[in-house]
Amino acid sequence: MKHYQEQWEELAEIKRELADRDWFMGTSGNLAMRVGSAPATFLVTASGKDKRKHTKEDFLLVNARGEAMEDTQLRPSAETLLHSHVFTGSSAGCSLHVHTVANNVISELYGEAGVITIRNQELIKAWDKWGEHDSLEIPIIQNHAHIPTLGDEFQPHVKEDKGAVLIRNHGITVWGRTGFEAKKLLEACEFLFQYKLTLLSFGSNQSIIKGGVTS
Ligand SMILES: [Zn+2]
Repeated sequence: MKHYQEQWEELAEIKRELADRDWFMGTSGNLAMRVGSAPATFLVTASGKDKRKHTKEDFLLVNARGEAMEDTQLRPSAETLLHSHVFTGSSAGCSLHVHTVANNVISELYGEAGVITIRNQELIKAWDKWGEHDSLEIPIIQNHAHIPTLGDEFQPHVKEDKGAVLIRNHGITVWGRTGFEAKKLLEACEFLFQYKLTLLSFGSNQSIIKGGVTS
């Protein structure tokens, strides 16, 4: 039994749940779970696999530079560097990255602004925002095929042990103190994005049906 068995099983369970939501289209997406601190080590999904399949080769242990820490043929996900920034820049325990149509469309619609702000929505409570006038702001960074450049743009947004960053026309990375928290925040983001897109599809963000009459 490996010393990271517990983290492996937790990450495998999260992977199963996200696969059930069909959030790994075309082998996209990658997941990571912290194993060690000082120095940071973590389990990360192996590159190029169909993440709807569940095997003993789904994850490998890497160090903060994204290098395998065991003798293995597996290669870590190409975007492992983003998870490294999460684990070295915060005390987060889990970091999740998925590509969905909703997060891609939102990232394009608000890409020039560099941020999407959500308010007057119950589910921002997932982020511990309980006040009536609270708002949730999710930064949007530009996509770069060169992962170190993408990492440089991503890194300054890792300020707390939980957070989310949209990558324009690419996907979202969400992290939390635990696997449970990271998954909760990711689900909340996707709910809020779908809500926003549905609202926009009715023609206007401001359009509200009052008393059965469209204003
Ligand atoms: Zn990606």
